Amino acid sequence: MQQISSFQSDGGKLYLVPTPIGNLDDMTYRAIQTLKDVDLIAAEDTRHTQMLLNHFDIHTPSISFHEHNTAERIPQLIQRLKKGQSIAQCSDAGMPSISDPGKELVAACVQAGIPVVPLPGPNAGLTALIASGLVPQPFYFYGFLDRKHQQQIAELDQLKNHPETLIFYEAPHRLKKTLQVMQEVFGEQRQVVLARELTKRYEEFLRGSLQDANEWAQQNEIRGEFVILIAGNDHPEVAADEQPQGTPIEQVDAEIARGMNTNAAIKLVAKRLGIKRQALYKDYHQF
Ligand code: SAM
Repeated sequence: MQQISSFQSDGGKLYLVPTPIGNLDDMTYRAIQTLKDVDLIAAEDTRHTQMLLNHFDIHTPSISFHEHNTAERIPQLIQRLKKGQSIAQCSDAGMPSISDPGKELVAACVQAGIPVVPLPGPNAGLTALIASGLVPQPFYFYGFLDRKHQQQIAELDQLKNHPETLIFYEAPHRLKKTLQVMQEVFGEQRQVVLARELTKRYEEFLRGSLQDANEWAQQNEIRGEFVILIAGNDHPEVAADEQPQGTPIEQVDAEIARGMNTNAAIKLVAKRLGIKRQALYKDYHQF
């Protein structure tokens, strides 16, 4: 059992620092102090984070850490941490690693025995959930669906019988299309909540059926950021024992048997199980 205490070691530590999702007042005292105290800030977009640092009069140097330089940055950051430096990692908004960069760095620290210290703070999904009026737990945080239509249908199909409230992120320019696909798979009567512009001036909640949401989306210009929450299925069509089972490879085979192509099946099963797509790809093809 690996046991690492966050507060008792003097060596380098990785701090995971959530940042506001719109309202700068949501920055916690501890988050500000941590960003001031660390040796380096690993930021998804250094220019974006610089505005936050300026606002709170923070002068710590920053370095970019995003999905396109993860592989090259991690060894550099781990080296600094091993030398005893402390690093704060943050994304553009909300919690690191939640549909944002971070998880590979955390895994590398865990592997290297470096303490990872998470700070609580802003997160769009949970903020939307607590005001949605939908059943708050159990819930299922899905994040972004795939961008391809067929893949979206396959992903939603896997979720349609879930009894949990479902939480999705979506980019504004894809919202209309995604709501249509959701209606196609979940049916027009399924209840949905659109949580728009959370913590900002034009924050609002739109509640109704998927049919209502699609009518609204057809008639209005879609502006701002949205979390989509879907009520869980009260009357699932399949029994729980028909939910996907077996090893990842068996689940890929099952999806292929249901008509999906191999790559799409690997992607779907990897997302479902929270494992790396490339790793499953390699296992599946026995590289
Ligand atoms: N890491 C962030 C978190 O902890 O919530 C999520 C980042 S993800 C790249 C961005 C997505 O989060 C947006 O496309 C939107 O779906 C959701 N989001 C972020 N800020 C939001 C806000 N103020 N209001 C509604 N949704 C928001």
